[in-house]
Amino acid sequence: MLKIVLTIAVIAGVYYFLIKKPQVTQKRRERADAEAKKPKKGEEIMVECDKCGTYISTHEAIIKSGKYYCSKECAGVK
Ligand SMILES: [Zn+2]
Repeated sequence: MLKIVLTIAVIAGVYYFLIKKPQVTQKRRERADAEAKKPKKGEEIMVECDKCGTYISTHEAIIKSGKYYCSKECAGVK
């Protein structure tokens, strides 16, 4: 009788891991995806202005002919 109970417990345990685990990894993956989509602070790449040497983030930088500039004045754009 004890053997049967143990067998059922083992099978239940195996089933639990087989069924539950993929869901957990799926949730974890979804969470990772959601976090990846969020803009993270401190992930901006700092670039040097080609003219004056000021460091600006790529979001703020003005790109002109493949070079980064801190301002329109440095980029020579008006
Ligand atoms: Zn500049």
